[in-house]
Amino acid sequence: MQHQDRLDTAATGRVHSIETFGTMDGPGIRFVLFLQGCALRCRYCHNPDTWDTSAGREMDVEAVLAEIEPYLDYYRQSGGGITISGGEPTLQAPFVAALLREAKHRYGLHTAIDSSGFCEPAHAEACGLLDAVDLVLLDLKMMDAARHEDLTTQPNERILRFARHLSDTGRRMWIRHVLIPGVTDRREDLLALGRFIGTLRGVDKLELLPYHRMGVYKWQQLGIPYTLEGVQEPTQREIERAKRIIEEGRREASRTGCTASSGPRIPQYGA
Ligand code: SF4
Repeated sequence: MQHQDRLDTAATGRVHSIETFGTMDGPGIRFVLFLQGCALRCRYCHNPDTWDTSAGREMDVEAVLAEIEPYLDYYRQSGGGITISGGEPTLQAPFVAALLREAKHRYGLHTAIDSSGFCEPAHAEACGLLDAVDLVLLDLKMMDAARHEDLTTQPNERILRFARHLSDTGRRMWIRHVLIPGVTDRREDLLALGRFIGTLRGVDKLELLPYHRMGVYKWQQLGIPYTLEGVQEPTQREIERAKRIIEEGRREASRTGCTASSGPRIPQYGA
């Protein structure tokens, strides 16, 4: 075993939970590892129990790989792989890099992270995380800085820097946006999102994720006030409208020449 391999299999992370047949977080059937820890406090978060960095259980890379192994055929035959989600996976970047390197090296799996992008690019590069990732599912929540902070408690400059870095370094992305009626569905916000996406290279897909209330009981269990009481899930019509506006913004960016020089790929929509 090489020195780097030994280091990789010995790396440990704090794990919230495991899903062995994930179909929502990247292509195909996927092993999804949810990690502990997130610096954001999104008002709609359906996993507030992942916020605490000290909660969960500690696992090393070898232990996670042992959980993957029984299902390898499903992941391979479906064109799936492994996705690290959370919480925020980049908070445990060295562990995630080690795990994904090993999953790729040992099993040849497609690798992805589901990230808020709240990570300095240099941090993700230093440990080789971005080189170990085939696809970044990047959650862009709000382009307006003040409204982003109101929604998540954190500013969005770092997130936009991370997105720009992915684009500049040729990484593949799926952009995700949670559509919350009355909160993230204002025309100007969706247009701004579309315009920004229109300037990025490497965006293979846009996913509008309809707000849902399935995690509200967790806020109650944790005794944290839930500030979106009374907000409804978006209708299909509202989802279609949002797609149209984002697309309008994206086209505008193309027309005004803001788009990356290689020209825009026409992204697929998913919801
Ligand atoms: S970034 Fe994700 S895990 Fe973190 S608070 Fe927001 S929705 Fe929850």
